[in-house]
Amino acid sequence: MLISLGTHMGCDVSVRADVLTEMRAAASSSFPNETGGLLMGFDRAGGIEVALVIGAGPAAPECPDSFTPDRDWQYTEIDRLFEQTQGTIRYLGDWHTHPLRGTDLSALDRSLLREISTTPAAQCNEPLMAVLAGGGERPWIDAFFRYSRRAYVPWQSVQRVHYRVLPDAKSGADAGIGAD
Ligand SMILES: [Zn+2]
Repeated sequence: MLISLGTHMGCDVSVRADVLTEMRAAASSSFPNETGGLLMGFDRAGGIEVALVIGAGPAAPECPDSFTPDRDWQYTEIDRLFEQTQGTIRYLGDWHTHPLRGTDLSALDRSLLREISTTPAAQCNEPLMAVLAGGGERPWIDAFFRYSRRAYVPWQSVQRVHYRVLPDAKSGADAGIGAD
């Protein structure tokens, strides 16, 4: 079941259903605190596929409006995934939760995106940022944003992108999970 199809500046974004499931599970287990991590995936013809998520890590302090990722643990996970996929997987951006808030990016989120895009070590010119908002009595609503280096004006450099949900390999077509 494909909920939303779309392109953004010639780039299709696809997200595996189990990536959404995993982010929601982590969001709920950290609630009411914020959590997050890294989006990993592959380049596909005409776009990118978010295939895996890395969490905040076991030594990541979490508060309702911030968290501090366990970088050492995350780097070890990146190395492991890189090896496991024969070097085909890459870092695509970050994700985090907004407990009891909306999906809008904060000024800090936007500046982080810009920072990632200009950090050579990240090797990610146009990073994604996924936000999951909600928690408690409310369902988690997700939104994906992408930083573009080709925007004519600075305030257009971060735009929300539509994405396609890829059913996960194990449970087949029934795994389609709705984007908001
Ligand atoms: Zn945020």
